[in-house]
Amino acid sequence: MPRNNQSRLENKPETGADAPPPNTDALLNFVTPTEFVELPTKGKFYSTDHPLHGVDTIEIKYMTAKETDLLTSKTLLKKGVAIDRMLQSILVDKSIKVSDLFIGDKNALLIAARISGFGASYDANITCRNCGATSEQCFNLEEVHRKEASDDINFTPEGTFFVDLPKSEIRAECRLLTGADEDLLLKKSEKKKKLKLVESLLTDQLKLIIVSLEGVTERGPVENFVDVMPAMDSNHLRKEYARLKPDIDLSYSFDCDNCGANNDVAIPFSTNFFWPE
Ligand SMILES: [Zn+2]
Repeated sequence: MPRNNQSRLENKPETGADAPPPNTDALLNFVTPTEFVELPTKGKFYSTDHPLHGVDTIEIKYMTAKETDLLTSKTLLKKGVAIDRMLQSILVDKSIKVSDLFIGDKNALLIAARISGFGASYDANITCRNCGATSEQCFNLEEVHRKEASDDINFTPEGTFFVDLPKSEIRAECRLLTGADEDLLLKKSEKKKKLKLVESLLTDQLKLIIVSLEGVTERGPVENFVDVMPAMDSNHLRKEYARLKPDIDLSYSFDCDNCGANNDVAIPFSTNFFWPE
């Protein structure tokens, strides 16, 4: 038994006039613990004027009742911004905006916050790709690894990098996507679905990733090229982006209980990630 508990048990309960005044200082001075989360980008990819440029960790407060309130706020949930508000609330350095974080860094924060608030054990229902049976998988979020940026990237001061397109022989300057970009893509795709238009997620994504082509930055010509670029080039760009992009490795492998097929999936951020029963 830890010493503290033992001495507490040995102490006689204080009663009546002998009792010391209630220790309000302990409550008023209670400081929420913080921790440093390692960023998959290690601060690369951020431009030289960004607060996270060259910074490889970010300090967060442990989740408190205030953040749980943000997560359960019906108004925020409707707007789909509850998680961003919660992350913004636990960042110690308020000059950092959650929407500016690259997706991999945001994922690292999400996982650290989840562990601090609800523990590392996470159950989610996964559907087998072979037979369609759904089973509950239990993930240990402490075991999730970071996929760090490869060392062979030459960065510009803006944190961008170059990819040479093999077919058109055009040099594309690229950037990583942020949480704000992800939201934008989601909204665009929902709008197109509503209007029953053909979805264009891949080209929409490439238009955000590409900063310039052969030094041309004007959006008109750049977006026009994306619409007509050879498939060989867009495939190469997507593969290079995936290879270079730092992130959290959410890959997970399991054998289906129903049919025995092996499934390679990504740990989903489903609703009970922050709202376990
Ligand atoms: Zn199966």
